[in-house]
Amino acid sequence: MKIAVLPGDGIGPEITAQTLRVLDVLVRDGLKLEFESAPVGGAGYDASGDPLPAATLALCEKADAILFGSVGGPQYDALPRPQRPEQGLLRLRKHFDLFANLRPAVVYPELAHASTLRPDVVAGLDLLILRELTGDIYFGQPRGVRTTESGEREGFDTMRYTESEIRRIAHSAFQAARKRQRRVCSVDKANVLETTQFWRDVVTDVHDEYADVELSHMYVDNAAMQLVRNPKQFDVIVTGNMFGDILSDEASMLTGSIGMLPSASLNANNFGMYEPIHGSAPDIAGRNLANPLATILSAAMLLRYSLDQDEAARRLETAVRKVLAQGYRTADIAEAGRQTVGTREMADAVIAALL
Ligand code: NAD
Repeated sequence: MKIAVLPGDGIGPEITAQTLRVLDVLVRDGLKLEFESAPVGGAGYDASGDPLPAATLALCEKADAILFGSVGGPQYDALPRPQRPEQGLLRLRKHFDLFANLRPAVVYPELAHASTLRPDVVAGLDLLILRELTGDIYFGQPRGVRTTESGEREGFDTMRYTESEIRRIAHSAFQAARKRQRRVCSVDKANVLETTQFWRDVVTDVHDEYADVELSHMYVDNAAMQLVRNPKQFDVIVTGNMFGDILSDEASMLTGSIGMLPSASLNANNFGMYEPIHGSAPDIAGRNLANPLATILSAAMLLRYSLDQDEAARRLETAVRKVLAQGYRTADIAEAGRQTVGTREMADAVIAALL
């Protein structure tokens, strides 16, 4: 199984290097993984004037999955838009039709203090938000600003979803739920928006093929409220692009620790790109300060969703739980006054927990 590794910029190279050291333990134990790295983002621009060099794309095409670090940095901010680092990320999403964005929000009991919510509300939280990434009002045509017959200007966008777009994300949600607690909550605004009534009907129809998974529906305004009132009621939330954009950020902040949160973007063949949700953190880059756990947990998602190596994924996740229970903390997740470890030392602790 081939993994394309795209470290990117800022802390990206540090956190991916440490993640590869951790994955090497699984390889030594018999997992057949091969890694090859290539530049992307600002590093791609520096290497060949393109944030997604042709050779990098070719490497990804030959791979079974992509492990992505992070891209961006102040030195690239003045570049014309096509050369900006984030274009590397956007073009990869488009090229591989990565329509399903999976964002777990997990609160480890030891880190419940990092949340702005009361520890008893979030401790033990383990939910997965599945956001449709390539459709909805973000891409619907027509859109623009026009002058009406009465001479007034108006802005407009179009919310639309085809049946096939809804079907494939619904399948992804039910399949993801099968790897978890088998409960899916589909979020819409079916009381007001035709598109999302249609969404609800199609999700309900797809559910006929997944009798072993429980399906419920919730309006988005209620979902936003329930996420802060009682987030532990959810297992998998599936929703469209715009609602998912907002709810996934809300859910990630329930945990309070950006350095801990992985993500995946998958296509219909379960080919995927796996990356921490945080950016390239230029303020701490190159100083052995970054938390590598979000990237290590992204690698666990890669094993689970693209390579179907559930046991190896669970091994990694258990090792992460263990180092937190043992008290290892990088600066971003440490309570005031607590002793901290660096990027490499955190990876060392995960490696020790795996052995
Ligand atoms: P950021 O996520 O890079 O950093 C926000 C804050 O969180 C910073 O204080 C940073 O030090 C801290 N932080 C982030 N990851 C951490 C980790 N693993 N361990 C410890 N602390 C961590 O967001 P930003 O500062 O808004 O953006 C910086 C750059 O990253 C920009 O160029 C932005 O465009 C880019 N960015 C890239 C991605 C991506 O690659 N997917 C996502 C978001 C932002």
